[in-house]
Amino acid sequence: MEKLSKYSFEIGAIRPPSEGGSYSLLIRVTRNCPWNRCKFCYGTPYSHEKFELRAVEDIKKDIQAAKAISDEIKRVSWQIGHAGQINDIVGSAIIQREPDLNYNHSFVTVFNWLSSGGRTAFLQDADSLIMRTPDLVEVIKYLKETFPSLERITSYARAKTIYRKTLEELKSIRAAGLNRLHIGLETGDDELLELIDKGVTSEQHIVAGKKAKEAGFEFSAYVMPGLGGPTMSEQHAKNTARVLNEINPHYIRMRPFVPRPNTPLLDEYNRGELQLSSPHERLRELKIMIEALTVTSRVCFDHMMNAWRKESGALLFTQDYEGYKFPEEKGRVLELIEEGLRVNESNHISAKEMMAMPGL
Ligand code: SF4
Repeated sequence: MEKLSKYSFEIGAIRPPSEGGSYSLLIRVTRNCPWNRCKFCYGTPYSHEKFELRAVEDIKKDIQAAKAISDEIKRVSWQIGHAGQINDIVGSAIIQREPDLNYNHSFVTVFNWLSSGGRTAFLQDADSLIMRTPDLVEVIKYLKETFPSLERITSYARAKTIYRKTLEELKSIRAAGLNRLHIGLETGDDELLELIDKGVTSEQHIVAGKKAKEAGFEFSAYVMPGLGGPTMSEQHAKNTARVLNEINPHYIRMRPFVPRPNTPLLDEYNRGELQLSSPHERLRELKIMIEALTVTSRVCFDHMMNAWRKESGALLFTQDYEGYKFPEEKGRVLELIEEGLRVNESNHISAKEMMAMPGL
């Protein structure tokens, strides 16, 4: 058997939970974040490194390495009588021959991707659309040619970067095969956008969102309940709903605000300049936002920070990646919010308690 450990490719630190759930193949097209200024985000792995574009040839070499690993895994499957199927027995056979592969990130990524069907890929890091459009198109086409099984390719992108691209550029990226964009909307409130140094206005969010959708992308928008604390809660809720209604994203994903280590917002909190809203205040904020939504999106609470509880102690909202379909399930979400408001506040998990949790 050919030594699999001789193949490796670069993998970044971050991908959305929904891409982890589908074991997407991770292909790093840039390194880190070209903006790197959002005040809630300095502590992410992006912040310690400078942003870098990667050469198209280097990205293609990574794709070739992933292909070589994939081919060898399939070859072993045929060799031991599993007809190309990728399962635990095939994995054990490979690991038995080469135990170090257990710790080989490239092998583990490709193996998990293949065993879950090999249908999705995620382009890393924080803003792939910052690449020159022809370069990005070339990379996506090469990825699709190399792995014809791919049905969905997704990426993070900054709204400001989408805003700056022409509709024709976006259409060519979409036509090459990029299907879905994950965008950190955070809030639709201009005062709050400026306070967190998001580098984008609500109007630019709207223009970018509409343009991405017109180009044919699935649009996944991340929203931060609690970002403005109790004082800005209502304007955050109302203006976020306003922007979401204009864009009507395919997905709205809730990511309640928790100050993270080494971020300016944690410093502000520690200096007593930033107040965190309580679990009930956040639910009331969500209620205002949800009531105002006229979208046909799927509204998702697919992260552990959505830690509100029912009386039984079970999670209030499903953390399923497909969430709740609006408008059909809007009433259901509002009922759940009321249910959460009836639970004693101390039985929910507060943002302060979440700050102490490892991995957040
Ligand atoms: S654009 Fe995204 S990755 Fe970059 S600093 Fe802002 S939140 Fe962080």
